[in-house]
Amino acid sequence: MAAPTPPNVTSVTPDQHTEAGAAPGKQDFIRQIVRDDLAQGRHTAPRTRFPPEPNGYLHIGHAKAICLDFGIAAEFGGVCNLRFDDTNPAKEDPEYVQAIQDDVRWLGFDWAELRHASDYFEVLYLAAEKLVRQGDAFVCDLSAEQVREYRGSLTTPGRNSPYRDRSVEENLDLLRRMRAGEFADGARTLRAKIDMASGNINMRDPALYRIKKVAHQNTGDAWPIYPMYDYAHSLSDAVEGITHSLCTLEFEDHRPLYDWCVDKVDLAHSPELLAPLLARGLPNQAAKPRQIEFSRLNINYTVMSKRKLVAMVGDGLVDGWDDPRMPTLQGLRRRGYTPASLRLLVDRVGISKQNSVIDFSVLEGCLRDDLDAHAPRRMAVIDPLKLVLTNLPEGHVETLTFSNHPKDESFGTREVPFSRELWIELEDFAEVPPKGWKRLVPGGDVRLRGAGIIRCDEVVKDGDGNIVELRGTLDPESRPGMEGANRKVKGTIHWVSAAHAVAAEIRLYDRLFSVADPDDESEGKTYRDHLNPESHRTVRGWVEPAAAATAPETAFQFERIGYFVADRREHRADSPVFNRSVTLRDTWATKD
Ligand code: ATP
Ligand code: MG
Repeated sequence: MAAPTPPNVTSVTPDQHTEAGAAPGKQDFIRQIVRDDLAQGRHTAPRTRFPPEPNGYLHIGHAKAICLDFGIAAEFGGVCNLRFDDTNPAKEDPEYVQAIQDDVRWLGFDWAELRHASDYFEVLYLAAEKLVRQGDAFVCDLSAEQVREYRGSLTTPGRNSPYRDRSVEENLDLLRRMRAGEFADGARTLRAKIDMASGNINMRDPALYRIKKVAHQNTGDAWPIYPMYDYAHSLSDAVEGITHSLCTLEFEDHRPLYDWCVDKVDLAHSPELLAPLLARGLPNQAAKPRQIEFSRLNINYTVMSKRKLVAMVGDGLVDGWDDPRMPTLQGLRRRGYTPASLRLLVDRVGISKQNSVIDFSVLEGCLRDDLDAHAPRRMAVIDPLKLVLTNLPEGHVETLTFSNHPKDESFGTREVPFSRELWIELEDFAEVPPKGWKRLVPGGDVRLRGAGIIRCDEVVKDGDGNIVELRGTLDPESRPGMEGANRKVKGTIHWVSAAHAVAAEIRLYDRLFSVADPDDESEGKTYRDHLNPESHRTVRGWVEPAAAATAPETAFQFERIGYFVADRREHRADSPVFNRSVTLRDTWATKD
């Protein structure tokens, strides 16, 4: 079943993703604009910013914006600021402010300066007085509901507010009294005076300030009024001298307002507005920023709306923001996604104005490619069956040397204990083998990875007929280095020494949603109805000593099973916890 996609949306599948990875310098349209601007001498270096609102944790969509904002600055010798767009105090929280910084650093980026839109509240206010004095803004007494009525619709023009023609003096007086906290929440707004008949609704005298007597996480009770997003965002960019203000396509219709704010306030020619910043030691770089939009990252089998992510955490549908099934950067990190794998995803997806839905397998493929190259190999058994090698003496122990990576000698070697009693994978044994079976059967041979060839002599069962253990013999001529070591057998299986292996909790994660488009609300369903009941299963298994004795967040390929990571929070050498990051092969390709 192909992912259902709305019209005008291309669905991107794994094999369509070669162009960006293959290109030496990235060639997307935004980098082309930056190249041209530098070539024309418009800037000496780009200044960009990543501007999250601290109202939730970052998700994989943000990774695209981060890689673009910080990546362009780095590639063209410029700088990128991290700016919190904190103009909505009711929803914002210092917990998010800290987590966002951690996530950006984890992804491999660092900012030139850490800023907040709230650092500029004084500048923004002075700029508002300037707009009033120029006759470009007015204080409006319409209620929110009336403003909506007056706004008109896509097909009908709006009507002018009856307060639109207030005198400059009256507007200035009212604005100052708004700022002094004289009026109740919602009683008045400061509005831009633009054009109530504009075809672009964003230009119909949009609000610039609202009254909201809520404490702010950064400025406390200093402000009873807060700037609106478009006003604060555009001017913050201007204050910081941002050259290329990169944002997602939904802001395309806001660009005329962005430009209006920048042009009308004209910071470059109003140094007096920047005085409050100089007093605070914040350098200013007044320049004219240019907004450029690109398409969001969308991935199927995933929801990315912050509202839904907040609800899933709040309602206990997942185990917190860093649940390894969450698309948050914290969740992906705990799942075992590496910064390199996410940067690779952004490169493979590329930058354009075309909306698309990326197949989840593209994300998984990026992780596999990264871990295949960078994760050491280990052995672990996740569904154990005992195998006793009866021709080895009781208490027999030896140490085998294994290479840590089949394709890269620089990973070195490790010692793996081998003994008379082993754990093998239950699914590597079949009493009645299906056609084409290559692994162990009663009376059959199989190679134990790196140890030699064994034969299964006996299947021991309990009173109910359940298999309790296998008993077999190790062919002494097949040991590593012996002549018979290359004897042909059909299959090779992995194992761990029962006396040496460490019991481990192994968390088998899968996609959080079982349908490609969990946001699909047809037939009265919501994303909650599409949760995958099999997205999390915990099993007890055994890992070789060299897997247990590792630091949290170490990634391994457990041979023949998949890529796993030692859990960031709960892994201990004496009680290991591993999360499955991704299987060795795409197991969903055949499901659809
Ligand atoms: P909301 O506005 O609903 O809180 P948001 O996802 O827009 O959520 P912001 O914190 O405002 O979150 O986003 C910060 C930056 O990340 C913005 O520039 C935004 O365009 C970008 N961004 C957010 N989601 C995606 C996405 N899915 N793909 C690419 N960029 C994104
Ligand atoms: Mg936003």
